[in-house]
Amino acid sequence: MTTTTREIHLAARPNGWPTQENFALVTTDLPAPAAGQVLVRNTHMSVDPYMRPRMNDVKSYVPPFQVGEPLDGAAIGKVVESTVDNLAVGDLVLHRLGWREHALLDAAEARRIEPIDGVDVSHYLGVLGTTGLTAYVGLLDIARFKAGDTVFVSGAAGAVGSVAGQIARLRGAKRVVGSAGSAAKVAHLTKKLGFDAAFNYRDGPVADGLTAAAPDGIDVYFDNVGGDQLEAAIGALHDHGRVAMCGSIAQYNESTPPPGPRNLALAVGKRLTLRGFIVIDHFGRTSDMVREVGGWLASGELVAEETFVDGLDNAVAGFLGMLRGENTGKMVIRL
Ligand code: NDP
Repeated sequence: MTTTTREIHLAARPNGWPTQENFALVTTDLPAPAAGQVLVRNTHMSVDPYMRPRMNDVKSYVPPFQVGEPLDGAAIGKVVESTVDNLAVGDLVLHRLGWREHALLDAAEARRIEPIDGVDVSHYLGVLGTTGLTAYVGLLDIARFKAGDTVFVSGAAGAVGSVAGQIARLRGAKRVVGSAGSAAKVAHLTKKLGFDAAFNYRDGPVADGLTAAAPDGIDVYFDNVGGDQLEAAIGALHDHGRVAMCGSIAQYNESTPPPGPRNLALAVGKRLTLRGFIVIDHFGRTSDMVREVGGWLASGELVAEETFVDGLDNAVAGFLGMLRGENTGKMVIRL
């Protein structure tokens, strides 16, 4: 039987900040699943910063979105039709065909998720999914965090940053400091997530905010932002300091990328390590992350905030809002 459904397409490539005109909400008909396929009614989809660079026609570690084609990304849904033995109608699955109300996909591309008592299923798009894994691998494996380190996290009230900072605290950091874009987020970091200090990067020079938050300098910087925050961190790092280069959201909407940190030469004298990584190379660490982070989540020692936007009609607004900082923790679209 055919299923009439809706999906969001890239209508035109954005130049600088995207607007609603760059997207189109399209009604389409899906055929019944062929042998080996399942039909899924999506219930939640993820909007993530990496989707913005994918809207440019630039080759990266993931292929660019195509104009006139649906967007994609992580999603959770319920199987509504199945042609395979290992997925039944009603099963909850995690897959890559977000930005649409129904997904027709090969069963091999859908991973069944077992709901955990007391843990919202949407966390599989965040703290128990690639968000949590990015924080875990970035802090522990890439920045080689060890107990007693002083850690600075930028984008600290966001999905990855809030988890990275809390892992550092729970693994015995001497001091955890974070930056975020509003007074409310700064208060959230210190009052709810257990950061020792935090500052609003919009309030003045980042280097001043960082010096006030970490007067004795830092050992590890978890970089979600790049730009002036990376520059301030390089200035504050101790000798042999380590940087996990996770993302540079400060420049995703710039049509001309800004020049790199002006003080990069300090990396030589300070013997710094600045190491980039992409989470997809580290899926082998998922079970370690789910065991440790899932344990803290279940015990309440780690807080995983989510910001919800409802409906596919509002998914683009949710995506743009996330780029502007309207989310605290993981931005999730409920479908
Ligand atoms: P977030 O939940 O952190 O959402 C994005 C946040 O970025 C906003 O809430 C906003 O918060 C902040 N922001 C936006 N513009 C700026 C700016 N100009 N300067 C400083 N902060 C800004 O997203 P994620 O946690 O999903 O992603 C965080 C980073 O991690 C991104 O750079 C992303 O690309 C990267 N990433 C990398 C992965 C990898 O494999 N390397 C995997 C997943 C994510 P505020 O209000 O504080 O400004």
